[in-house]
Amino acid sequence: MEKNFVEKMKMQLEEEKKVLEKGLQGFAEKNKLPKGDWDTHFPSFHGSNLEEEADEVEEYGNLLPVERTLETRVAEINLALEKIKEGKYGLCEKCGREIEPDRLETIPETRVCHQCAV
Ligand SMILES: [Zn+2]
Repeated sequence: MEKNFVEKMKMQLEEEKKVLEKGLQGFAEKNKLPKGDWDTHFPSFHGSNLEEEADEVEEYGNLLPVERTLETRVAEINLALEKIKEGKYGLCEKCGREIEPDRLETIPETRVCHQCAV
């Protein structure tokens, strides 16, 4: 992998991570331990009737899958950043070949090349 290219991907990954973490902060609290884990706030009930309470519980239920998706992406980005540090970024985890640069530009955190992904 070319150094300039890896540097560019690193910036992109860090930018993406910031955006994702901001998204998580909107409705979740970062756990101290384990690192990188987030908890969705369970709604506190301000509603004066049962219907409002049910709505809040439903909203909580809807946020959980979103939280998990964001969390998974942050974890993948962290892994990619880790690989950059170790100088292993851009290598396919399945076949060991270099991942196509245009694929990395689209999905900087990808762990497999185009061929292994299909
Ligand atoms: Zn591969």
